[in-house]
Amino acid sequence: MDKQKRKEIRKQLAEKELAEFRKGLPFDENIFPKLFDFLDIELNKNGCNHTTILTKTFLDKNKVSNTTDAIEWLADNGGYCDCEVLANIEDLFDYLNPPLLKPFQSNQIKKQKLNSLKTDFGFSIEKIPLPWTLTETISGNDKSYNFQFGKSNNCIINLASDFPITQLDNDKFWTDLGLKKLN
Ligand SMILES: [Zn+2]
Repeated sequence: MDKQKRKEIRKQLAEKELAEFRKGLPFDENIFPKLFDFLDIELNKNGCNHTTILTKTFLDKNKVSNTTDAIEWLADNGGYCDCEVLANIEDLFDYLNPPLLKPFQSNQIKKQKLNSLKTDFGFSIEKIPLPWTLTETISGNDKSYNFQFGKSNNCIINLASDFPITQLDNDKFWTDLGLKKLN
């Protein structure tokens, strides 16, 4: 089995595990973060008296109907008292706050030389004529094309990709555009 396949299986297992975890929760998962915030504040004030009195108070206040089941579930997951609920259960809900996507990195920009060009916006060249060279730059979902004339030359032309190709048969569009340029 190759690495990619093993990775895929691991991912599927983790997803299945998470789905089961969510299904087994004693109350709405979105109430949990509020419980942790509440415990954080209350425990800071008075400390833990080794019961789940604060948790129970919170659940009653938030109209969780099956508090007995909820307290039992918390104990099963290592939260036998209020401070343990905070210490041991909070991490189980990390999935509610997935880490922010990494900012765009420069190594995601790919450059390559092309001998021919076929764009997805309908422009194509079968063979790039010398002394032109064509470089394709891919960054994320954006592709851009630069034609360079000669090697050490600074003459670089960027291929326009926003060309209004759907308007090719629309004479009025081009007349208006021409008039706009003149004015
Ligand atoms: Zn405690």
